[in-house]
Amino acid sequence: MTLAERVVEFLNSRRPSAFCDDCIADEMGSNRHHTQQTTHPLGLTRGYERARNHCHRCGADNKLAIRGL
Ligand SMILES: [Zn+2]
Repeated sequence: MTLAERVVEFLNSRRPSAFCDDCIADEMGSNRHHTQQTTHPLGLTRGYERARNHCHRCGADNKLAIRGL
């Protein structure tokens, strides 16, 4: 699976919880830069939202976090 496919599966299985890029990078065993290149376009697609939100994993309240709607 590509990183994008794994991120989609991760978010879909935890919908509608939001996760910041750092936590997704940790979960994927990837780096933040690579993860951001995936979450940014994904956040522009229908069914996903990427905004400043509460991260379900680390509890940060004001980081860009993505979630499945
Ligand atoms: Zn987080």
